[in-house]
Amino acid sequence: METDARTIMEPAKRVPVLRDVDVLVIGGSQSGVAAAVAARRANPEAKVMLVEQNGFLGGQSVGGMVVHWEFREYTNNKGQVITRGIGKEMIRRIAAKGHSDPLYDKWLSGQGPPFKDVPDGRAHADVPLDVNDIQLVLAEMLEEAGVEVLLHARACAALPLDNSTGFPASRGAFVETIDGRVAITAKCVVDCSSFSDVAWWVGGTDSAIVPEVQAMSMQAYAWIDNVDLEKFVKEGVWPRPFQILYPSDKQQLWDHVMQGKAIIMRGFADVMDKAFDSEPELVEAYEMTGATPQIYMWLKTVRTRKVECGAGTTKYLGTFAIEGPEFHWRQVDPLLVTRATIGQLKAIHLQVRMHRYLPGWEHATLDRTVSRIGFRETRIPVGLYALTKQDVFHHAKFEDVIGRNTGHDVGRGNLEAEYGYDIPYRCLVPAEIDGLLLGARCISVEPDTADESLTALNAHRGITATIVVSQAAGVAAALCVREGVEPRALDVKKLQAELLRQDVVLETPSG
Ligand SMILES: Cc1cc2nc3c(=O)[nH]c(=O)nc-3n(C[C@H](O)[C@H](O)[C@H](O)COP(=O)(O)OP(=O)(O)OC[C@H]3O[C@@H](n4cnc5c(N)ncnc54)[C@H](O)[C@@H]3O)c2cc1C
Repeated sequence: METDARTIMEPAKRVPVLRDVDVLVIGGSQSGVAAAVAARRANPEAKVMLVEQNGFLGGQSVGGMVVHWEFREYTNNKGQVITRGIGKEMIRRIAAKGHSDPLYDKWLSGQGPPFKDVPDGRAHADVPLDVNDIQLVLAEMLEEAGVEVLLHARACAALPLDNSTGFPASRGAFVETIDGRVAITAKCVVDCSSFSDVAWWVGGTDSAIVPEVQAMSMQAYAWIDNVDLEKFVKEGVWPRPFQILYPSDKQQLWDHVMQGKAIIMRGFADVMDKAFDSEPELVEAYEMTGATPQIYMWLKTVRTRKVECGAGTTKYLGTFAIEGPEFHWRQVDPLLVTRATIGQLKAIHLQVRMHRYLPGWEHATLDRTVSRIGFRETRIPVGLYALTKQDVFHHAKFEDVIGRNTGHDVGRGNLEAEYGYDIPYRCLVPAEIDGLLLGARCISVEPDTADESLTALNAHRGITATIVVSQAAGVAAALCVREGVEPRALDVKKLQAELLRQDVVLETPSG
C-alpha cells in the first residue's frame, strides 16, 4: 500500500480482557468452525472461543457465495475415499435441511462421484449447497460443541509477545468489537483468518510471505435470477462447443433442470462477441473497472425451480452463479482491494447486460452480490514444512499426515493430481512462532507463482481441504493445551489417534 511518508505514534492504552480461554480461533468460515468444534470434541474441558469480523458465519462460502463445496474432492480419481471428518458432517447436516441440490443426497447415499449415470460426473461436481443453511448449520455446530462465539469482532494485533519458549508467541489477540478494543488471552491460537494475520503480526515478512506475483486473482460470484431454463437449454446450449458442460448428455441436462439438479457450463465466447458488437461501450466500461478481460462465461446453477403459470402451463426458472470479474492485484493492499471491490460491482452490472444476449436470459436480473470480494492468494505463512506441487503430483506420503486432499483446480482434467496426497502436520506449525497453529487456506505451501494452475496453493485452497486442515489444527491446539506443550512439540501419534476417532481419513482405503 502506498502511504504518506509521515508516521504517527499510537498512544498506549489499557485494554480490558474480555476472556481468558484455552483456544482462540480467529475467523469463522467453515474452516474456523471446524477448528473450534474439533478442539472441543478433542478436549471437552478446553474453553474455546471463536472471533469473526463479519456479522455472520461462513466466510467466503456465505459472504462470497461459494456454495459449491465440490464433493468430488471427498473421493479420488479411482473412487477411493480421500476425506470425511467434519467436512462431510457439515455437508450432511446442511443437505438434511432440505434446500440444497438433490445431488448431495445422491452422493451422501454412497452413489458417487463418479456418478455412473452421468459420463462426466466426477470432473464437474460443482454442486450448490443452500447458502442460508450453511450459516445455520455452522452456528448450530458451534452451539452444540460449547464454543463461545464473538461476531463483528476483528482480531487486530498480537498481545505483548511471550518469549519464554525461545520462539515468540502471542498468547491471544487484541480484538476490535462493536464496543471497542478488548484483549482475549489464550494458551493457543488457531489462525483461520486466511490472511495469516497472526504470523504477520508476530514475525512480519520472516513469518508470512506475500508472493511478488499474484498468480491467482481476487474474484467474486454474482447470482443472476429469472432465467427461462427451457428456452436456454433448447436454444442456448445446442449446438455449441463448451470447455465444460455438465451433464453433457442432452436428455440428462434437461432431466437435471426438471429435477432441480445442478447444470454447469463454461463457454459462450460467441455470445460475448455478440454483446460487444451490439453494445461496444460495454467493452470500454468493463476495461475501466481494471478487471482482467473475460473470454468466456462460466455458469453454475444455484437454484432451479418449477413455476406454475396458470391454465396448466409451467415454467422452469433458474438462478445462476456467474464468475464475476477478476483482479490480479495484491490481495493484502487495502486500497487495491477497495478498488477491486467497487470495480467488480460495476463490472457485474455490465455482465448482467452481456448475459442477456443468451437465449432465455432476456429478462434476467441481478439477484445477489458478494459482501466481500473473494481472495485466493493473500499471505503464505512459513511453516516447518512447505507443501510443494511435487507433493501434489507425486502423491506424497508423510509420517505426520493429518489429512488427505486431491488437487482441487490443479486436478481438473489432470488425473495425476486427482489421486490424492497427504498433508503433513508440519504445514500447520509455524517455523519460528509458538502458541500458534495454521488453518484454513493459509497453511505453509511453497510460494510458487510460475503457473497458477499448477501450484500447491491452488490444490489446497478448495473448501474441502480448508476444513481438513482446520479440523487438525483445532484438535492439535486442544491437545497442546491438555499436554501443556507447544505445537512443535506435540506428539503426532496422539494427534493422529484423535483425528481417527473424529472420522478423519489418514490413508486412502479402497472403495
Ligand atoms: C471466485 C471464487 C470462486 C471459488 N469457487 C470455489 C468452488 O467452487 N469450490 C471450492 O471448493 N472453492 C472455491 N473457491 C475457493 C474457496 O472459496 C476458498 O479458498 C475458501 O472458501 C477459503 O476458506 P477459508 O476459510 O480459508 O477463508 P475465508 O472463507 O475467507 O474465511 C476466513 C474468515 O476469517 C475472517 N477473518 C479474517 N480476518 C479476520 C480477523 N483478523 N479477525 C476476525 N476474523 C477474521 C473472515 O471474515 C472470514 O470469515 C473459490 C474462490 C473464489 C475467490
